[in-house]
Amino acid sequence: MDITIENQLRLCPTLPTISSVALRIIKVGRNPDIDLAEVASLLSNDPALATKTLRMANSPLYMRGRQARNLHQAVTVLGLNATVSVALSFSLSTSLRNAKTAGIDLDRYWRRALLSALAARLLGEYKKIYAPEELFLAGLLQDLGMLALDAAMPETYGQLKHIVHNHDTLPAYERELVGTDHCEAGAWLMEDWGLPDYLPLATRASDDLSRVDIPEDLETFVGCVAVSGRIAEIYLAEDTQAATAAAVHRARSCLGMDPDQLSEVLSHMADALPEVEALFDMTVLSPPQALGLTDQARELLATRNLQLLRSATEVQDREQSFRQQADRLDYIARQDALTGIFNRRHFDEAFGSHFARAKTEAYPLSLAYLDLDHFKAINDRHGHPVGDRILAAIAKSIQKQLRENDLFARYGGEEFVLLLPGMDQDGAKKILARLCDGIAELAHPLDNGESLTVTLSAGIATVPGDGIHSSRQLMQAADEALYAAKQRGRNRVVLADATTRKDADHSGGQPA
Ligand code: GH3
Ligand code: MG
Ligand code: MG
Repeated sequence: MDITIENQLRLCPTLPTISSVALRIIKVGRNPDIDLAEVASLLSNDPALATKTLRMANSPLYMRGRQARNLHQAVTVLGLNATVSVALSFSLSTSLRNAKTAGIDLDRYWRRALLSALAARLLGEYKKIYAPEELFLAGLLQDLGMLALDAAMPETYGQLKHIVHNHDTLPAYERELVGTDHCEAGAWLMEDWGLPDYLPLATRASDDLSRVDIPEDLETFVGCVAVSGRIAEIYLAEDTQAATAAAVHRARSCLGMDPDQLSEVLSHMADALPEVEALFDMTVLSPPQALGLTDQARELLATRNLQLLRSATEVQDREQSFRQQADRLDYIARQDALTGIFNRRHFDEAFGSHFARAKTEAYPLSLAYLDLDHFKAINDRHGHPVGDRILAAIAKSIQKQLRENDLFARYGGEEFVLLLPGMDQDGAKKILARLCDGIAELAHPLDNGESLTVTLSAGIATVPGDGIHSSRQLMQAADEALYAAKQRGRNRVVLADATTRKDADHSGGQPA
């Protein structure tokens, strides 16, 4: 994960945290020789946790033979690994239950977490890997990164509000907006907490197994977690059929399971759910709802009609193409349709960080404001379509001459902005003078065989520079310099200085 994102997470004061008891439990879990009595005594420091563990040991889900009457017996019944997993499940779900979230519906989040946890456990049972509590924990925590990203970047994550619970598309959007996804962020946090390796591994792979190198002995474990979320969606998504199709596809690709086998696993979901809800004091679904949805999904799986299988492949294709599509959509949203260069939205979003970066890394940054001269007259004389063609030709010609790090955008009608990182006033003036000369010489052929030329004026402001402390001031100074360039006769480049400020003052406001 990118170091800046890591720092952002590390410095976030509201990042999910882990209790000190849980931390000690993790440590204890690392030592296979530890005396179980010691684990019991550790747990007894947290009465709520102790009660839960005892209750868990006696739950029909976990009970192995005899009833546990005290904590020591409970720990003995469960065994070390299971006790650690159980304790972590409770401890983390309690401490994260009341997180403040910007983009996440926390209730939906926890319903999915519990359903996934149960599904992971049942899948493991079906696949005969005997690590039910570890699977439960991994299923429960696989989306922890959503809470972390939401806490560290509430504004950005808040923008994802409407798609945040659609796991088909969420990671791609996250990578686009935040630069990482919740699988990566969750795994990072788990590593930071020192959770056992299988947890960050399963989390990192939960969206896409192929992204991670998985040791052979953990393939099924990780696969169970990756399928579990899709099973949860059968119970939560609006479109049960689509969710079932997605689960079919996942179960096949991650665990080699066919629809009948998946159906068999589903048949235990509704039965086991009430017990899990009781243990975790959460309501996920009413029993009739759970049964109804299970039946509906199993019906779909039993008919195995072509339509469903076909839509399962469609889901696969959708998943694969989504990343590219998201990239593409985002690119389009930042592009100006007429000229093909960036639009104002992109510039406004990028300008702030360019400015901040120039400041922290102490390099100069120049901003030029460009405006075509007497462009209205071109439209008036030759028509708007001709004006459009000329605008596009000029934008393309300028774009071609820039360096990779320069940011050129159409800011409005016939106005452009050009950001030149690393360029001081003199350097920027040379570049702009060359660009202006080039544009003035560019011939725009007309249908009647004649051709036109158009000139442009530019104003440049630079940081570091007098009285310029913010990106807004930089913009304003460049704008004022442009106004001075127009005043002084157009087709020229003017640097922001005391005179341009004065010129602007005389106008009694900003240039149009
Ligand atoms: P000045 O040298 O003072 O900038 O004169 P100007 O005529 O360029 O300035 P003004 O701001 O009065 O007019 C800008 C014109 O640019 C008006 C409008 O017709 C034209 N324009 C703005 N956007 C577009 C566009 O997308 N296509 C075309 N064809 N013309 C546009
Ligand atoms: Mg103009
Ligand atoms: Mg203008």
